[in-house]
Amino acid sequence: MEGTEEFGSIKGNAADIKRRISVALLRSADPARDVKLIAVSKTFPAVRIAEAMDAGLLRFGENRVQEIVSKYDQLKRRKAEWHFIGHLQTNKVKKLLDVPTRYIHSVDRLELGTELERQLQKRSEQRDVLVEVNTSGESSKSGVEPEKAVELVRMLSEFTTLRIKGLMTIGALTDDKDVTRRCFARLREIFSRVKEEGIENVEMLELSMGMSGDFEIAVEEGATIIRVGTAIFGTRRLPGPEGNAS
Ligand SMILES: *Cc1c(COP(=O)(O)O)cnc(C)c1O
Repeated sequence: MEGTEEFGSIKGNAADIKRRISVALLRSADPARDVKLIAVSKTFPAVRIAEAMDAGLLRFGENRVQEIVSKYDQLKRRKAEWHFIGHLQTNKVKKLLDVPTRYIHSVDRLELGTELERQLQKRSEQRDVLVEVNTSGESSKSGVEPEKAVELVRMLSEFTTLRIKGLMTIGALTDDKDVTRRCFARLREIFSRVKEEGIENVEMLELSMGMSGDFEIAVEEGATIIRVGTAIFGTRRLPGPEGNAS
């Protein structure tokens, strides 16, 4: 430890997470790959995000449409990537598209794809999206069932405004590391299957998996994107909406 970064500061926390990513990468099948860190800033005000930007963080994740729109408006002069990671209601799609999202991580049903296509057609735009899979089987979680994931990707691939770039999952809410690992391994298997199908208009580049409590396991299992809130910003005072709170 260099001891130059204050313990508990955003900068110190981010440095610690990056170190832990590097170590976990060494235990993974593809240690040379890049793992992108998304700072999940939900419930924290724009000033804290600005602080994280000052500390060198570039990617931010939010799970509520109103919140991402508001924070983006306050911070749009600054260079950053905005990721939408929460459950997306069809009636909020139009509003969300006002934010130039890098990835919408939570496309999990045809109906949502249909509305995204409709609103994006109107704007003459395309967006990069990930398909969310419910690998834990927990009924509170969003995401398509694993058995239906390939079929959903196939159907979504027909929408010309959506560019499918990978898959996302939220691991099981458990202390059992083997259960968590199986969730992530399951996502990686679906990822490989979709790749093998060679579906037109679909690229499998990203595996978005792993949060504060389980990102090292996710990296070991092949994550290219991890979504970390608490371990960067500290404990949230307000819970996220059901199904997404950790
Ligand atoms: C809140 C949230 C995270 C981050 O959770 P932490 O445990 O605070 O790291 C990651 N992904 C999603 C989808 C979330 O809603």
